[in-house]
Amino acid sequence: MIIDIKKIRLSGKDEQAFFFEYLPETDLVDIPNAKLITPIKVSGTAYITGNHTLYIEGSVNFKIEGECTRCLNHAEKEFVIDFAENFDSETEGSYPVVCDRVDLSVIVNDLIIMNIPVSFLCKEDCKGLCAVCGANLNEGACKCEK
Ligand SMILES: [Zn+2]
Ligand SMILES: [Zn+2]
Repeated sequence: MIIDIKKIRLSGKDEQAFFFEYLPETDLVDIPNAKLITPIKVSGTAYITGNHTLYIEGSVNFKIEGECTRCLNHAEKEFVIDFAENFDSETEGSYPVVCDRVDLSVIVNDLIIMNIPVSFLCKEDCKGLCAVCGANLNEGACKCEK
């Protein structure tokens, strides 16, 4: 997932739309019994803002599937994360530009790690399992005393 300033310039423009499908090398999801469904989709536009700097607007689209942390049912959830970042090796806190190239996998990995929830729920208000009889409370109340 490389954006190359020189290549954008060679095309005679100062911006470039992009679309990548990305397979991360490391396991970015730290939720028990859940995993990323790959490939992750990354799209957006890169704008040249200076000799060696870029501004990139885009979005990262990924899905997680696995076991709901509360009710243990199979669940699948889609995430869409928009980002807008400057890439500038001279500015502290910016993502770097190395030899006029930006490797988007760095920011994409960061965005995924920052946005993945600590628990994975089939729905926000999942009622979970009864601690006594183990019934799935999303399907109705059980007969246990509360
Ligand atoms: Zn659930
Ligand atoms: Zn019960």
